[in-house]
Amino acid sequence: MPTSNNYRDVLIIGSGPAGWTAAVYSARANLKTLMFTGLQQGGQLQLTTEVENYPGFSDGIMGPELMDQMRQQAVRFGTELVEDDVTRVDFSRRPLSVWVGDEQYYGKAVILATGASALWLGLESEERMRGRGVSSCATCDGFFFRGKDIAVVGGGDTAMEEATFLTTYANKVTVVHRREGLRASKIMQDRARANPKIAWALNNQVVDVLSAVDERGIEGITGVRLRGTQTGEESTLPVEGLFIAIGHRPNTDLFKGQIDMDEAGYVLAKQHTETNVPGVFVAGDVRDHRYRQAVTAAGEGCMAALDAQEFITGEIWTDWAIGEQSPAVEHPVGTTV
Ligand code: FAD
Ligand code: NAP
Repeated sequence: MPTSNNYRDVLIIGSGPAGWTAAVYSARANLKTLMFTGLQQGGQLQLTTEVENYPGFSDGIMGPELMDQMRQQAVRFGTELVEDDVTRVDFSRRPLSVWVGDEQYYGKAVILATGASALWLGLESEERMRGRGVSSCATCDGFFFRGKDIAVVGGGDTAMEEATFLTTYANKVTVVHRREGLRASKIMQDRARANPKIAWALNNQVVDVLSAVDERGIEGITGVRLRGTQTGEESTLPVEGLFIAIGHRPNTDLFKGQIDMDEAGYVLAKQHTETNVPGVFVAGDVRDHRYRQAVTAAGEGCMAALDAQEFITGEIWTDWAIGEQSPAVEHPVGTTV
């Protein structure tokens, strides 16, 4: 039952750039704002080193430091935090419900900002060298590979796009793909194939990431071990960077059956940041599989909070926060109380 303890104006799920920005706008608009940070607090940027393309930091900023700044800004305006993963939601009734284990929380509006996760090959050496030569984001990290030989794994549009983009920095980009045929659209393939800086290692998969420690004591990539998928033969490709472009997975298992999604599981926005459920808004990589940038996620977080604010102001609400029992609990979504 909604009480003053468990009922808020806005619930935000996820603490990446989208979630924190939504929290800053929501709390600063005097809406009672509760964020579920998730266990990976700070989101994807928590996993990276230097962020050079977030406006306002002319010398760049470390990912975890940027996320800590966002957190402090959100908390400064009164955002409350539950530092855990949400385990269940129910958007079929108002107020909207969110659970962490057995603990139920209610909100007039909910902002979904659970992001997406890059898929990885699953090699121990790949995990160890992440952020030190192994990356899943060419736009973010391409700059660090100026003049170097690098490899991109994957045969889809993302791999073609990343490989082509990376040739603006790298000396040579080798696309490693496990089959002969590429999955990418013809236009993307043609563009990549016409690029003289792109080489191909088809019918190959990466089985190990090779590294060495330099004279400064810094471990860097020296190559990748390839295995022929047809022949089983192994070879070494000397590269200093490895980009994994085998797809992303939106973190939306939680919302299945509750909200409209596309075939790949990304939440669909009907208009602006509105989903198909009134009062539920979406922001960042959980919706956007095109741009996948901190600044675009933050921008959508702002939009979602403004949309939530307008939604809340435009509806008539029973003040469950002081009432013991909410008659609205019986009202299906789509009706006002
Ligand atoms: P995310 O950052 O993915 O955050 C999602 C949040 O949701 C996390 O806090 C997670 O814990 C939470 N969550 C998930 N499930 C639950 C749940 N069940 N309950 C509660 N919380 C949940 N972009 C740039 O602009 N510049 C860069 O330099 C850059 N570098 C990058 C480097 C790396 C290694 C990676 C992986 C990405 C990089 N990006 C960069 C991309 C950028 O990080 C993302 O676009 C951005 O973080 C997306 O923000 P988001 O808030 O939508 O989601
Ligand atoms: P994708 O189309 O699913 O392609 C993933 C690629 O990675 C496939 O070639 C796959 O190989 C390979 N792969 C998957 N798991 C692997 C593993 N464990 N080891 C080695 N290789 C592995 O993903 P995507 O390229 O990220 O594209 C996702 C969606 O976004 C697509 O719909 C795409 O069209 C779209 N997109 C569009 C653009 C654009 O139009 N500008 C740009 C980027 C993405 P197999 O082929 O053998 O399965």
